[in-house]
Amino acid sequence: MALKTRFCAKCGKETNKLIDSFCAECYFKEKGIKIPKKVSVQVCQHCGAIKWQGIWTKTDLPAEHYLTHILMSKIKLPEQIELEDIKLLKLGKKGEIELIISILGKKFKQKQKIDLEIRKGVCKDCSRQLAKTHKVKIQLRTEKNTEELIQEALEFSNKYRSNIIKVEEMKKGIDIYLSNREAGKHLAYDLRKKFHCKITETREQYGWDKSKNRPKTRITFLLKQS
Ligand SMILES: [Zn+2]
Ligand SMILES: [Zn+2]
Repeated sequence: MALKTRFCAKCGKETNKLIDSFCAECYFKEKGIKIPKKVSVQVCQHCGAIKWQGIWTKTDLPAEHYLTHILMSKIKLPEQIELEDIKLLKLGKKGEIELIISILGKKFKQKQKIDLEIRKGVCKDCSRQLAKTHKVKIQLRTEKNTEELIQEALEFSNKYRSNIIKVEEMKKGIDIYLSNREAGKHLAYDLRKKFHCKITETREQYGWDKSKNRPKTRITFLLKQS
């Protein structure tokens, strides 16, 4: 029995396999594959854990693996098209991926620009660990608009981010933990000026520095906006 052949609506090629009245090549040229503009994944900069579906997950797999996974789930294809592989060619805002797809048994490659973001963060475990080693803690409190204060304080503190190990949003403000005493003091006094706060400083001894033969202390600055 001879197979019934038909003609591609675009190039006129005779074939027995058509999708939407196009041959595989023309279908691919016409439609391409729609992909999201951006995919991002958050990685703990200390232990490599990945925030996966809202939960920090310990993993040995690289962030790229998760990006590919997310892409796979976000790319929607018509039934006759199979996604065989995704290669991440370049990460970042001007990232690029290559899709390998098969349409009616024929393979096609499609390169596509995409924003592939690997965001750095700190997972819950590491943040707990790091908070123990802090040198300065800044407690900024307000009686006014807490959300606004938090937003502004975070933006303002951004230039100290290399020394910030943890930030915790509180009911009436924010706690900022820093690894470096000088940076911590600067930020505390900068914040005081910016938000017109009263400042109180408390020192706490938490160990003994054998090399310098003196107590190890950490400072807490309480900043109250009235
Ligand atoms: Zn065709
Ligand atoms: Zn971690």
